[in-house]
Amino acid sequence: MTGRLAVVGLGPGDARWLTPEAETALGAADALFGYGPYLDRAPARAGQRRHASDNREEGARARAALESAAAGANVALVSGGDPGVFAMASAVCEQVEQGPPAWRELELAIVPGVTAMLAVAARVGAPLGHDFCALSLSDNLKPWPVIERRLDAAAQAGFVLALYNPISQSRPWQLATAFERLRGHLPVTTPTIFGRAVGRADESIVVTTLEAADPAGADMATLVIVGSAQTRVVPRPGQAPLVYTPRSIGSALA
Ligand code: SAH
Repeated sequence: MTGRLAVVGLGPGDARWLTPEAETALGAADALFGYGPYLDRAPARAGQRRHASDNREEGARARAALESAAAGANVALVSGGDPGVFAMASAVCEQVEQGPPAWRELELAIVPGVTAMLAVAARVGAPLGHDFCALSLSDNLKPWPVIERRLDAAAQAGFVLALYNPISQSRPWQLATAFERLRGHLPVTTPTIFGRAVGRADESIVVTTLEAADPAGADMATLVIVGSAQTRVVPRPGQAPLVYTPRSIGSALA
C-alpha cells in the first residue's frame, strides 16, 4: 500500500483564512510534519502523530514526510501562507526529483493557502491591483547580487514589489540595502507598507514612504510592499488611508 502526502497551506495566521480543503486535509492525516509554530496552528486531533522540526531543515523535513507517506501513512506537511510561495511545496518537489523512484508514485496534493502578500495588501487597500512581483530578500538560497539585479529590474520595469523574508538576525543589513537601491529608481514618496504578523494577535500595519521606510520596523514576521510610481495613498477622515495601484496605466508610460 502506498500512502499519500498533502502539502498544506495554513494561510498567514487567522484561523478563518484556513481553507475548508486545508482543514479537511489536516483532519484526514495520520501524521503531521512541519515547523513547530505552524504545527501548533493545526487543530488537534486524537491519534495523530506530530513531527515538529526546525525552520531551517526544509529538505530533511520534506524527506521525512515522503518516507512516512512511502511507508503507507496519510501525511500532511504544513506550511505557513501558501505552500508554493517560498515554502515547502518546492522542497518536496526537489526531493521527489532527486529521491527514490517510488516517491514519484506517491499520491501528492498541494493544497493552496492565502499567501502573506495578499493578506497584507487586503489590509491597506489594493497595492497589488496592477502588475507586481514577489521576491524573497533571503540570500540563504541565492547570492545577494542576484537579489540586487532583480530589485533593480523590477523597480525599473514599474512592478510593485512584495518583499518576503525582509530581515532576520542572521541577515540584518539586506533590507536597508534593498531600500537604498530602490530609492535610486523610485520617487521618494513611493508608498511603502510594513505588514507584520497579519492575521495574528500581534498584527501591525504601517504605511510610510520609501524615503522614511525604516528597516528597524521589520522583522521575520513582516512582509514589505514597495509601491510603483503609480501607487497612490487616499487619506480618509477618521480611518486609515487607502493604498492602491490603479488598474490602468497611461500610454505615455509605455
Ligand atoms: N509560504 C509563506 C511565505 C514563507 S516565507 C506565504 O505564502 O506567506 C516567510 C515570510 O513570509 C516572512 O519572512 C514574511 O515576510 C512573510 N509572512 C509570513 N506570514 C506572515 C504574516 N502573517 N504577516 C506578514 N508577513 C508574513
